[in-house]
Amino acid sequence: MRSGTGTGNAAPVVIVGAGHSGVAVAAGLRAKGWEGCILLIDAENGLPYERPPLSKELLKDGATDESAVLRKERFYADKGIDRLAGVTAASIDRNGRTVLLSDGTRQAYHRLVIATGSRARPLTVPGAGLQGVRSLRTRDDALELKRLLVPGARVAIIGAGYIGLEVAAASAARGCEVTVLEFQDRVMSRVTSAPVSCYFEKLHMRHGVRFVFGAAVTSIDGEQSFQGEQRAQSVTVADGTVFPADVVLAGIGVLPNQELAADAGLDCRDGILVDGDGRTSDPAIYASGDVTRFTSPIDGASQRLECIQNALAQADRVAAHITGQPAAEPEVPWFWTVQHGVRLQTAGVRHREDQVIVRGEPAGGKFSVVYLRGGRLAAVDTIANLADFRTAKRLVAQGALIDPALAADPGIPLADAIAGIPHHAAADLAAARS
Ligand code: NAP
Repeated sequence: MRSGTGTGNAAPVVIVGAGHSGVAVAAGLRAKGWEGCILLIDAENGLPYERPPLSKELLKDGATDESAVLRKERFYADKGIDRLAGVTAASIDRNGRTVLLSDGTRQAYHRLVIATGSRARPLTVPGAGLQGVRSLRTRDDALELKRLLVPGARVAIIGAGYIGLEVAAASAARGCEVTVLEFQDRVMSRVTSAPVSCYFEKLHMRHGVRFVFGAAVTSIDGEQSFQGEQRAQSVTVADGTVFPADVVLAGIGVLPNQELAADAGLDCRDGILVDGDGRTSDPAIYASGDVTRFTSPIDGASQRLECIQNALAQADRVAAHITGQPAAEPEVPWFWTVQHGVRLQTAGVRHREDQVIVRGEPAGGKFSVVYLRGGRLAAVDTIANLADFRTAKRLVAQGALIDPALAADPGIPLADAIAGIPHHAAADLAAARS
């Protein structure tokens, strides 16, 4: 389906992918004064949508598939952004500056932006193709999963990352029996430290979620249903334990959708390589969002960031570079998740070897965990602590040197934990403010 009101004969900026980043590039181009045509190519039908609600609000009763729409239909018409829905880009002719589309047509481009995002890493064990075995990446995935999450359903979740835990919370709230099977020895081990993992594990257990750690799934076994389909019935792990399951959700990470770029000869290495302006190794082609890999301006690390903040920030820089307009000030990456109503907000990117300082008492339900690298603030996890989160974003961006003893004291504002402030002065300041 082609829709929109863009006019003019010059080749458009073609954006492949209509997730957060693709839509933000289109909006950003118009906001920065781009007057040429813009064509947004969306693999899915319907209006482009947000992903955070898919594993949260959309799994609740009452939510409709409209709940997650990114921009109303009118926005695209008003901004003159053409949309091509239900179509994918099959290949790029870089010399001719055209993209071959899955409907057989060829689309010329002035600039091409690849914002193809990522896909769920597939589960490869025997039985992964049985009915009832799902992953969660698209709106249709979420709506189908919700249909399966009926009260009393036995739900086995493979992977205790963001997806696994958010779906565990939603499933428990829907009255399902939930078991989470995780390779590692704690939840969210990729993104957070042991104190935060421990807090969320206990929170889930209070809501009836069961965890099995060090669990390597070896097979999913099924039975023949009345309709003649093979439906999942149980999950088996390496030590032979069998977990009964009517629904199996694999939340085992994502893979970047980089094939379009790689096949066209663009530099890729677990993500399309881009510079600070989102430029690929071809000056006429940009990439933005989850699909990219780039050098962190904060610590020089090569990274692929799977978060909305990065999807939007990169989109802004791509739009800025194409239009020659200034980009917004860089921001530290930040992330959030909500599980059983508790919000974890993270500023910065933690490394496993960072010094870990717990600020406050996890049992009280409000605390932060501070990560120092070479004495500097690298990241902060905050649980129900908006004040620390806001301060952390600023101090991480500054690379502030932090006094570990001050940071460990929740009575002292994080902003006053900068190294060099005498302990008694920071405490007096905190007392005066309270
Ligand atoms: P994830 O955060 O990478 O977590 C996947 C977890 O599954 C990891 O702990 C991983 O362990 C484990 N795992 C991998 N293979 C496994 C196996 N065969 N058996 C058992 N455990 C296994 O990925 P995700 O939760 O699937 O999330 C997918 C994407 O959606 C990410 O980009 C995430 O950031 C995004 N997302 C974000 C939010 C949010 O920000 N609130 C919410 C939902 C989704 P290893 O580390 O050892 O591989």
